[in-house]
Amino acid sequence: MGKKYASGKAVVVGGSYAGLVTARVLAEFFGEVVIVERDAVDKGTGAHPSAPQGFHAHAMLAKGGEVLERLFPGLRDELAALGAPVFDYGEGIDFLLPTGFAPRRRTGVMIQAFTRDELERRIRGRVLALPGITLLPSTRCDGLLHDPTGRVTGVRIGRQGAEPEDVTADLVVDASGRTSKLEQWLRSAGIAVPPKQVVRAKVTYTSMTFDRPEDRPAGFRVAYQMLSAPRVREAGVLMAVERNRWTCSLFAFEDEPPTDDDGYLGFAKGLRNPRLAEQIEQRTVQEPTYRYTNLDNQWRRYHAAPDWPERLVAVGDAVCVFNPVYGQGLTVAALEADLLRRMLAHRRPGNGLDGLARAFQKRLGRLVLPAWTLSTSSDLMWNPDRQPLGARIAHWYNARLFRVAVKDPAVWARFVRVVNMVSSPALLFHPSVALKVLTAPARPAPGAADHHSLP
Ligand SMILES: Cc1cc2nc3c(=O)[nH]c(=O)nc-3n(C[C@H](O)[C@H](O)[C@H](O)COP(=O)(O)OP(=O)(O)OC[C@H]3O[C@@H](n4cnc5c(N)ncnc54)[C@H](O)[C@@H]3O)c2cc1C
Repeated sequence: MGKKYASGKAVVVGGSYAGLVTARVLAEFFGEVVIVERDAVDKGTGAHPSAPQGFHAHAMLAKGGEVLERLFPGLRDELAALGAPVFDYGEGIDFLLPTGFAPRRRTGVMIQAFTRDELERRIRGRVLALPGITLLPSTRCDGLLHDPTGRVTGVRIGRQGAEPEDVTADLVVDASGRTSKLEQWLRSAGIAVPPKQVVRAKVTYTSMTFDRPEDRPAGFRVAYQMLSAPRVREAGVLMAVERNRWTCSLFAFEDEPPTDDDGYLGFAKGLRNPRLAEQIEQRTVQEPTYRYTNLDNQWRRYHAAPDWPERLVAVGDAVCVFNPVYGQGLTVAALEADLLRRMLAHRRPGNGLDGLARAFQKRLGRLVLPAWTLSTSSDLMWNPDRQPLGARIAHWYNARLFRVAVKDPAVWARFVRVVNMVSSPALLFHPSVALKVLTAPARPAPGAADHHSLP
């Protein structure tokens, strides 16, 4: 297929996960794609200083895996060949909900576990092998270029020890993550943007990766205990990943899981899901321990900007950051790249790129909404003084749904489909589910596991 804007050039600000996946899409349509990345990421690493989350446990939801496989055919097998396990979400995850353990049954939702580090490296290798793509490492974008109508015409870049340089482009993509300066750049150009929406999460992650004893089969691929307001304030996830290792992230609300060996194990032993401590206890070679705070949900509401400029789009964490409790960020960024691909493919020849940026940003706002609602509805419940009615209803419904799901594999399977973004949240409000949820006892039967009995 010929490139639609064969003589055109696109610039992507940020060469981490979202920037790379978007660059892959742009390479189908533009003759030249330049990725500007602040870090020196050409050394074969996928966890670099400006993407510190790369050291923490990451799950790729089923939908994200499906989209990535379309963009990078064979990626799943490439990762599997390194030992990244592929498994059924229901069978492979030892999942402790606030109401008890989820049923360990087949759900038909297949996922793969790997480190974000490996994922980013593999994707970068594939993207940089495409014709027309260049990565400028150790290069910072310092602002946008505009023409007199406000249309974005490129970016200003800077490298240590060099004069600032202007790079012109037909399309600029901001994929510079949660620290994106795009709002300031737009405001300084006189373009109004709505204030960022923030829902505090006050959670700290402490993570380590260690060898998996081969001789002792664990019987699960992931062990998870979910954080849940207001009672479950300590939690964690442990995942079998490539190269025969486990990655474990322990997390706490308004507290910090320890970084020292004994403290780390002690914290894991305090969790209600014993599988995490069991595996940590068997660790042999261990890599360094990392800590990450600042898990706030943030949404830059560009879809509502009245004068969004032509030729500028924003994706990934640069638009919306989710508290990772449901592991949505990577999947949402893949869906955004896929949306851009469909929108570029459906533009009529001769129509150029006019109108694309604003239309894309509006559709992205709709794409993000369900994931935002899911990740924030629980976080809003940490603050007893400020609980919006919508969040209280969502939390109330979810709490009852979890109570039903631990005993009803069909309801759990529906939740799994929704969380993995392979089905719409409407699936959880289907009359057959809603009836069970609404008639569930407000309190569990005596002796049954419930979040009130958790620490
Ligand atoms: C602890 C933790 C656990 C998580 N777990 C999961 C999970 O299980 N599943 C999941 O799907 N998601 C998870 N996420 C979310 C996921 O990590 C993010 O959604 C994803 O990494 C965002 O990618 P990004 O490319 O948009 O941003 P980033 O990875 O932050 O990349 C932004 C890039 O832009 C570059 N940059 C910034 N400013 C400039 C500039 N001015 N010029 C040039 N370059 C610039 C940076 O150097 C960086 O490389 C987790 C997040 C955290 C914090």
